[in-house]
Amino acid sequence: MKRFLIPILSIAMLFNLTSAFAWGPVGHDVVASIAEQNLTRKAKRNITKLLEGKSIVYYSSWMDNIQNSPYWENGYNKTKTWHYANVDKGHTYETMTKNPDGDVVTALEFLTKELTENYDNLTDSMRVDYVKMIVHLVGDLHCPMHAGRLSDRGGNNVRVKWFGQRSSLHSVWDSKIVESARRWGYKEWTEHLDRADRKFRKSVMRGTYQEWFKETVNGAASIYEYVEALGEEPNLSYQFVYDFSPLLEDRLMIGGYRLAYVLNTIFG
Ligand SMILES: [Zn+2]
Repeated sequence: MKRFLIPILSIAMLFNLTSAFAWGPVGHDVVASIAEQNLTRKAKRNITKLLEGKSIVYYSSWMDNIQNSPYWENGYNKTKTWHYANVDKGHTYETMTKNPDGDVVTALEFLTKELTENYDNLTDSMRVDYVKMIVHLVGDLHCPMHAGRLSDRGGNNVRVKWFGQRSSLHSVWDSKIVESARRWGYKEWTEHLDRADRKFRKSVMRGTYQEWFKETVNGAASIYEYVEALGEEPNLSYQFVYDFSPLLEDRLMIGGYRLAYVLNTIFG
């Protein structure tokens, strides 16, 4: 009997690990897939060439997965803090305590600058890695709990129940709400979300990482306010999915359009 316990435990631990980092794989795939639909022909051609025929969707969760690979100890562990920026209540990105190891905003600013101003000095493998990181991090930048409070580790310490099961607010927003809202794969999400008209797309495909992050902080604030009003360890279920589906859809769709904008600017 004991022999079976070990694999079950390892799988449970793996889920715990991955849920602490980002949108789950479906969320990241949706953002990358919407972006892919909105790339210019030239940008798509250049990126596909760089990724040796693979798509940006294929690599959308690479940056999370690398944390469980031998690569990790080989320099990539420096990117550990790049997935989020925790802003305490009453603070903004400007006034918050900055993480000296970097955050999602400084990481995206660095990667974009390298690919635009320092491209010729980068090795091919650096170019590839930086593209994969941008694809992932623009997704994280639009995930509300990646702008959660520092005091509760981006919602990781906010205990909630999700349809009766113990969970955290961070985990609910990373993957559980995406998986519960629809029984869709990333292609179906893309088909139903990538429908904004030209005027709307133009209105969101502009601005800076810091400006975009402000919206994520506002989204996180609305989630905190809602959950706090429900008291200690609330049981979140259908009502929560209903109330927050518009925010979820908005973040995935706008994240996708903006990823296209970033990649079109670099590679278009
Ligand atoms: Zn991430």
